[in-house]
Amino acid sequence: MQPLTLRMDERDNVAIVANDGGLPAGTALPGGPVLLDKVPQGHKVALQAIPAGAPVLRYGVAIGFAKQAIEAGRWVHEKLLEMPAARALEGLPMATVTPAPQPPLEGFTFEGYRNPDGSVGTRNLLAITTTVQCVAGVVAHALQRIRDELLPQYPNVDGVVALDHAYGCGVAIDAPDAAIPIRTLRHISLNPNFGGEVMVVSLGCEKLQPERMLPPGTIAIAEAGEDAGLDVVRLQDEAHVGFGSMIDSILRQARVHLERLNRRRRETVPASELVVGVQCGGSDAFSGVTANPAVGFAADLLVRAGATIMFSENTEVRDAVEQLTSRAATPEVAEAIVRELGWYDRYLERGRVDRSANTTPGNKAGGLSNIVEKAMGSIVKSGRMPIAHVLPPGEKLRRDQRGLVFAATPASDFICGTLQLAAGMNLHVFTTGRGTPYGLAACPVVKVATRSDLARRWHDLMDLNAGQVADGAKSIEEMGWALFRLLLDVASGRRTWAEQHRLHNALVLFNPAPVT
Ligand code: CA
Repeated sequence: MQPLTLRMDERDNVAIVANDGGLPAGTALPGGPVLLDKVPQGHKVALQAIPAGAPVLRYGVAIGFAKQAIEAGRWVHEKLLEMPAARALEGLPMATVTPAPQPPLEGFTFEGYRNPDGSVGTRNLLAITTTVQCVAGVVAHALQRIRDELLPQYPNVDGVVALDHAYGCGVAIDAPDAAIPIRTLRHISLNPNFGGEVMVVSLGCEKLQPERMLPPGTIAIAEAGEDAGLDVVRLQDEAHVGFGSMIDSILRQARVHLERLNRRRRETVPASELVVGVQCGGSDAFSGVTANPAVGFAADLLVRAGATIMFSENTEVRDAVEQLTSRAATPEVAEAIVRELGWYDRYLERGRVDRSANTTPGNKAGGLSNIVEKAMGSIVKSGRMPIAHVLPPGEKLRRDQRGLVFAATPASDFICGTLQLAAGMNLHVFTTGRGTPYGLAACPVVKVATRSDLARRWHDLMDLNAGQVADGAKSIEEMGWALFRLLLDVASGRRTWAEQHRLHNALVLFNPAPVT
């Protein structure tokens, strides 16, 4: 077997082993040392002797400091590394780097559903919004009836989705931070994949009343002349006698929306109508070498095509904050990045942890020693374009907020995906190295494998294999273009593996406020 190692920057004194199954001790690396230890796939090998206390460099940055002298050819695992402190949020370079302008990409289109507010859906879904967890069982029952009895009559509707969640009551709803889960629910209800149709199922006595979740004026009227009032089914209404009558009410209201959704057709729209959220989960050391750089290349293509691309995951960008603030389009954008990450630092401090609480046992088994190394590999998903906007958690992008956006969210896969849905995402890209069957009911999720071994074993779960980059079969540029074209296909209706298997995870709200 030809030994294959990957080094990210010429300053690096470690490289990662790319071979499936790793490499045994005694392997001579081409132009490098002989391995003194067995090094698992994705893990780091010292390319030269590293004295105690010296920086261990990957991506050209110190991902840690050697706790003891490390000989060339040693496996450099987490126990040998002291993690550097997080960069202070004062004195950062603000909007100092202007990336070289790139020519616009013209002529790329997809087939989407144009909404009354001008946004575009990639799917035509009926969403049933809920104000409180109490109604979830009833809504799940109604959903099955809608699927079985109604959807066959409305063939142009792609599906029905329940927006259920654990919020709505038993919470300190007037606490300042409660604004985050409340606006998240409001904005998810208005996601472009729901066609501007909003129907709500409420219990009646809950703290989060429908009018608080969706105040008058938040919903674009689907068709001129129609009643713009909020469509609410309240289970505690006296008109409801028995469970069956609640289900009848939900089905009756669902029909009204299905009629309108069913009249919609896909039309050719420019690629600039894409609002793509990217994130990673179940990461390994290949994430930052194969899949995330390919996503970054595709992100640049999307920006050049006039589209919107969001990257998120606060704890995975915190150690790269200098890269973000310097790449901000304006000092105001840089200040907004500092404001969001500073708020998040304080949020973590309240729980007596910091960004290092992010890494998982699987990350470490996959070769990621600590959050600094993980962050350097995560941030490359954002590509190289200037950061044009910053979005606080649960907020929705305005139509004029295009380009590269930092949507500040936790890195938790479900919370990040939920907040990106609220931001107006109509397409999701998810990279994984360890493997996760992650999916969302409200939006197609394109999953990108970081390793060929994972792509082979999970052949009917991974939509794209970026492991081809580590194998030497494809360049980052080729993978980036492949992803860009796949995104246009999926936006036009091609179903992802998760959609084919109907896999989806729960919506999970970010609620930093107290419960009662
Ligand atoms: Ca994540």
